[in-house]
Amino acid sequence: MDFRLTDEQAALRESVRDFAREVVAPVIAEHYEQHTFPYEVIRQMGKMGLFGLPFAEEHGGMGGDYFALCLALEELARVDSSVAITLEAAVSLGAMPIYRFGTDEQKATWLPRLLSGEALAGFGLTEPGAGSDAGGTQTRAVLDCDEWVINGSKAFITNSGTDITAMVTVTAVTGTNPDGSKELSTIIVPTGTPGFTVAPGYSKVGWTASDTHELTFDDCRVPAANLLGTRGRGFAQFLRILDEGRIAIAALAVGLAQGCVDESIKYAKERHAFGRPVGDNQAIQFKIADMELKAHTARLAYYDAAARMLAGEPFKRQAAIAKLHASTIAVDNAREATQIHGGYGFMNEYPVARFWRDSKILEIGEGTSEVQRMIIARDLGL
Ligand SMILES: Cc1cc2nc3c(=O)[nH]c(=O)nc-3n(C[C@H](O)[C@H](O)[C@H](O)COP(=O)(O)OP(=O)(O)OC[C@H]3O[C@@H](n4cnc5c(N)ncnc54)[C@H](O)[C@@H]3O)c2cc1C
Repeated sequence: MDFRLTDEQAALRESVRDFAREVVAPVIAEHYEQHTFPYEVIRQMGKMGLFGLPFAEEHGGMGGDYFALCLALEELARVDSSVAITLEAAVSLGAMPIYRFGTDEQKATWLPRLLSGEALAGFGLTEPGAGSDAGGTQTRAVLDCDEWVINGSKAFITNSGTDITAMVTVTAVTGTNPDGSKELSTIIVPTGTPGFTVAPGYSKVGWTASDTHELTFDDCRVPAANLLGTRGRGFAQFLRILDEGRIAIAALAVGLAQGCVDESIKYAKERHAFGRPVGDNQAIQFKIADMELKAHTARLAYYDAAARMLAGEPFKRQAAIAKLHASTIAVDNAREATQIHGGYGFMNEYPVARFWRDSKILEIGEGTSEVQRMIIARDLGL
């Protein structure tokens, strides 16, 4: 087993690292403070091909794989998580459902713009009353002649309300299965469709330079052809998308955890107390050593999950382990990095303050830590 990167993977990692340091770092604090979406950064990420990383060239992608996406996410999150989650949601939640389950026509219509980063798509699964229990979906879609009529609402949908958002995919109840359970399907709703309303952005604790909205559908009509893939496959579709997405979130969490190590080393060498750098104290050195240990082991966990996925092997348990572990240690590292920065760690001008505010959501989004434990336990036959 060899987890060393190929030359191509290492080159991608370096170029995204340089981009994050040279382009993202200088501007992101201002966007974070003002709660503004960094359009110019996103445009440049599109030009670099980041939105097309795991997609085939015939659809306008870069011909890479999901691991390449993870490497890019890790490097972005090492500097900033709002930008990283924008890419993660755009690719693994926005474009991937169309790529995996869409018809040829849907792929031709949407993928070129999504894979170039010119447009973004949202993934509307969570509802105000149904998050972890996504089967509790209340949004309904009824087929009326050749149109779906959608009624309901979705909560916390990333990338759903930017100036470049082109559409959202929405899970909805479309009938009843023979066993009496809900028939769930996924439907594409283009931005601007009458009856589709995007609420003002949430006021969030972290990820404040990313875009998140509640959506409502009030007799919203879209063509029958906007059904994504097969009717009644909505449940299976989102389970697949979320399994993959957990590896991507784990990579993002590792990036944040590593960013905490970077900032802590720098600060521990600069900051003096009792006549010497605080980093000369073994207590501080051990904290940083433990943070590095955690980032490293969490990285191995997501590399393992990605390798299994790309080999076509079962990866559900490993993806849940990677997501659970990486999000836990990201919160740990953010807490310790803040501690190492003392009072300055509580000031928003320091990147660790952003890391701290951005870390908690990693234990919640794309399946809470409790849900990851449920997945692992179920996979162990419990
Ligand atoms: C910034 C942000 C961006 C997001 N982006 C998207 C997006 O793009 N698309 C999308 O569809 N969703 C998105 N989400 C939603 C996110 O995935 C959900 O918030 C998450 O899945 C948890 O659902 P919930 O908030 O309804 O919590 P709940 O399901 O209400 O859970 C509340 C608590 O109960 C626990 N719990 C629930 N059931 C059990 C159980 N059986 N056993 C033990 N504990 C349990 C949970 O773990 C949690 O701690 C986003 C959320 C945020 C905050």
